[in-house]
Amino acid sequence: MRGSCACGGIQYELSDKIFIANNCHCSTCRKVHGAAFGTFGHAQAKAFRWLQGEELLIGYGSSEGNVRNFCCICGSNMPSVFLQMNYVRIPLGTLDDDPEIKPAAHLYVKSRVPWFEIMDDLPQYAGVVDLRELMKQ
Ligand SMILES: [Zn+2]
Ligand SMILES: [Zn+2]
Repeated sequence: MRGSCACGGIQYELSDKIFIANNCHCSTCRKVHGAAFGTFGHAQAKAFRWLQGEELLIGYGSSEGNVRNFCCICGSNMPSVFLQMNYVRIPLGTLDDDPEIKPAAHLYVKSRVPWFEIMDDLPQYAGVVDLRELMKQ
């Protein structure tokens, strides 16, 4: 499956399935998405590759070891590859194809904005949770 930024300068490809997806309500995800929450999919790092525009990426280290990538032209959130942990984190809204997976949980609900009501039945966690734990459910 493929994804891209809003201006189309950056294109990427994922050759394997996304094994888990989640909504994150933490303040950083909210701000970088400009939305009530961010939705991310996680996949194996080796299944991911940039097709074009890698030179347009700019990174923001929002916390230790956590670099968030953006397109320097249009500002779109872009995937972050964590080679040491062998995974890639993909902002789900940047996919151009159906990932055939839906978010499994809401994380950082303690930081949820007052103007958005969670209306689904997904599990809610106050903070972060180990993705492997989520996958067992
Ligand atoms: Zn762009
Ligand atoms: Zn977050």
